[in-house]
Amino acid sequence: MALTQDHPLLGRSEVELEQWATAQGLPAFRGRQLHGWLYERGVRDWRDITVMPVPLRESPPAPLGRSRVVHRSLARDGTLKLLLELADGLTIETVGIPTQDRLTVCVSSQVGCPMGCRFCATGKGGLQRSLAVHEIVDQVLSVREAMERRPSHVVFMGMGEPLLNIAAVLGAVDCLGRDLGMAHRQITLSTVGVPSTLPQLAEQALARLGRCQFTLAVSLHAPDQGLREQLIPSARSYPYEQLLDDCRHYVAITGRRVSFEYILLGELNDHPAQALALADRVSGFQSHVNLIPYNPIAEEAFRRPTPTRVERFAATLRSRGVAVSVRASRGIDGDAACGQLRRRLLAPGPEIDPETDRGQLPSRATS
Ligand code: SAH
Ligand code: SF4
Repeated sequence: MALTQDHPLLGRSEVELEQWATAQGLPAFRGRQLHGWLYERGVRDWRDITVMPVPLRESPPAPLGRSRVVHRSLARDGTLKLLLELADGLTIETVGIPTQDRLTVCVSSQVGCPMGCRFCATGKGGLQRSLAVHEIVDQVLSVREAMERRPSHVVFMGMGEPLLNIAAVLGAVDCLGRDLGMAHRQITLSTVGVPSTLPQLAEQALARLGRCQFTLAVSLHAPDQGLREQLIPSARSYPYEQLLDDCRHYVAITGRRVSFEYILLGELNDHPAQALALADRVSGFQSHVNLIPYNPIAEEAFRRPTPTRVERFAATLRSRGVAVSVRASRGIDGDAACGQLRRRLLAPGPEIDPETDRGQLPSRATS
């Protein structure tokens, strides 16, 4: 896609930045300098790029494309949730999840989400718009800066449905690999399933990236179509069998496995019989099921499953030969569930817990 001269610079390759500089009447090396300042140094403001001529710093022809960190919430386990303000004033969440040997950034792909899943805080507010490449890459840079550590993994499991924004999501994957040196295998796209988009994702990834090495995670959340439709209204237009057929086709085209996600809702979809039904569904896939104990959200009365029920569900799947992991609850005291921080802060009179919340950050000028 051809970018206009005043389009934000973040997200562009070194060659594209050289071309941009040349089109501005600048020497090409200015583009290379910009590349280093954007990706290596993570500069936020043109005025800080001290190697650039002063007139350019004072009236830049294009914004850098950085968002503004307007709030952060730090959980006791070190999980950091950032609220970022985009150029048009809308806000998104991004989360940094540290362990000893990795730092995972959970990025948003849209402002809000139109899919309306009942257990999801993001789904409650509908969709405002999709994010552009620079707005996705910025989230990774913002977490790197805030945590003073290089992210090793990126998961598209924040706000939004990545398969409704395929071009920008693949553009961001491309940039993360090319400009930040991340391995595509360390990147995971999570989708609840949008009819006809899985073949598009595979084809566009192969056309644009020349390979398709990122991991695809498909959110199932129920063992049958009836319950799935209750939890995920959009599933009414996507029969279970069709979704699984599309997954098989995706595996055939890309040579990559898919993994499946399953939120466990206490007494609703966590019965051993449902684990057996799920095992039947995913048999034949060389796949992995990631169980996610539900994080309660204010709007719904679903229950968090007890640890015993989680373990029994996992054991039942394992007894049928399914590879299973249980997602540890990270940052539960920092509004862990997707979309919660943003909804809490958008609501009038947010209650902030001073122990877990660093509160409003001082306002910083951005380009
Ligand atoms: N739209 C995509 C990716 C974003 S949601 C998808 O749905 O897959 C990322 C993950 O967070 C999904 O697996 C989703 O089911 C999960 N999630 C959303 N709300 C949650 C909650 N309240 N508790 C636990 N997991 C939740
Ligand atoms: Fe959207 Fe995913 Fe939330 Fe469903 S779970 S509303 S698809 S972000």
